[in-house]
Amino acid sequence: MQQVQTRVLKVDPLYPDKQAIEIAAEVIKKGGLVVFPTETVYGLGADTFNPEACTKIFKAKNRPMDNPLIVHIHSFDQLFEVAQDISDEILNKLKIVWPGPLTLILKKRPEVPKEVTAGLDTVAVRMPAHPVALELIKTSQTPIAAPSANLATKPSPTLAEHVIEDLYGKVDVILDAGRTFFGVESTIIDVTKNPPVLLRPGPFSVEELKEIFGEIVVPDEARGLGYFKVALAPGMKYKHYAPSKKLIVVEDRSIYREVIDIVSKKYKVAALGTDEMLKEIESTDVIKIRLGSDKNLYEVSKNLFDAFRQLDYSKADIGIIHGFPERGIGLAIMNRTRKASGFSIVRNLDDVKKYIELS
Ligand code: AMP
Ligand code: MG
Repeated sequence: MQQVQTRVLKVDPLYPDKQAIEIAAEVIKKGGLVVFPTETVYGLGADTFNPEACTKIFKAKNRPMDNPLIVHIHSFDQLFEVAQDISDEILNKLKIVWPGPLTLILKKRPEVPKEVTAGLDTVAVRMPAHPVALELIKTSQTPIAAPSANLATKPSPTLAEHVIEDLYGKVDVILDAGRTFFGVESTIIDVTKNPPVLLRPGPFSVEELKEIFGEIVVPDEARGLGYFKVALAPGMKYKHYAPSKKLIVVEDRSIYREVIDIVSKKYKVAALGTDEMLKEIESTDVIKIRLGSDKNLYEVSKNLFDAFRQLDYSKADIGIIHGFPERGIGLAIMNRTRKASGFSIVRNLDDVKKYIELS
């Protein structure tokens, strides 16, 4: 791919600098690529209505063209530029949930290029709750199509440093507003189905969704127990990021320490855990990668993808992470963790040898 000159512009997350936003918006209008922060993760954006610009996103990330993008909007007027046949019932609910970390699958308008939706007749839409993202979309005067701003083989970026590592020289502008707020990608629900189907859990919890949308179908795949088949959710069939180091998930916390002891006899282990779980580990040979505290799972979601990257940088052969309750943001944490482990899920001591050679 042709190298481009990348400008990294620091912006205040809450009171974004007008000049930086204007430079970035100009790039979007001219068909370039801008990395911008959202409340979930950093996005790699282009003008939704410019197919060549959108194609550049796939090239920069090395993303298969049949994995569709999310269209980011700043107003309800923009919603009607990209989606149609939205019932009043859904529209009223959207007025409650947006701006926020919830993406909806809706029927697309014909003007939305096939590059954005991978040729589907539906479009994924979200109004992000991040001042920088909203200002950028508004100033660009067009909805911005964007997936996460990582290489297709890497975890989603939660810091501008992650973006620089993956995409420097491939994008025109990176807006650096520090660590993103939630750290896991948006919740996705398909409201073209009745009842709506959860395609990806995220910061907007199933409990909250049920209060607003009533019944919600939560397939096993949304829990991170396997991949969707093409028919249910086209883009969801892709193998998710997995660290190049082996990662195993000890779902039953009561055997976490024991699993680490067993595996450490043969391998260099990195324990990815909360303060409460890491303090149980006495061996100084074990590398500790801190996720946060059990008292605040939003801290864990914020640190999770950075922890996966740290595992790869570390001297460890194997990462061992423990489970989290599948409530609230915990469901998203478990979905990303199980997928990152390539489903190396340990529920009892016997399971360990399914994934690693111990003898
Ligand atoms: P990313 O934010 O990088 O995870 O990429 C956007 C996600 O939205 C991908 O996982 C897509 O599969 C999903 N997505 C986008 N459009 C659609 C759609 N029309 N139907 C189902 N999933 C979609
Ligand atoms: Mg992504």
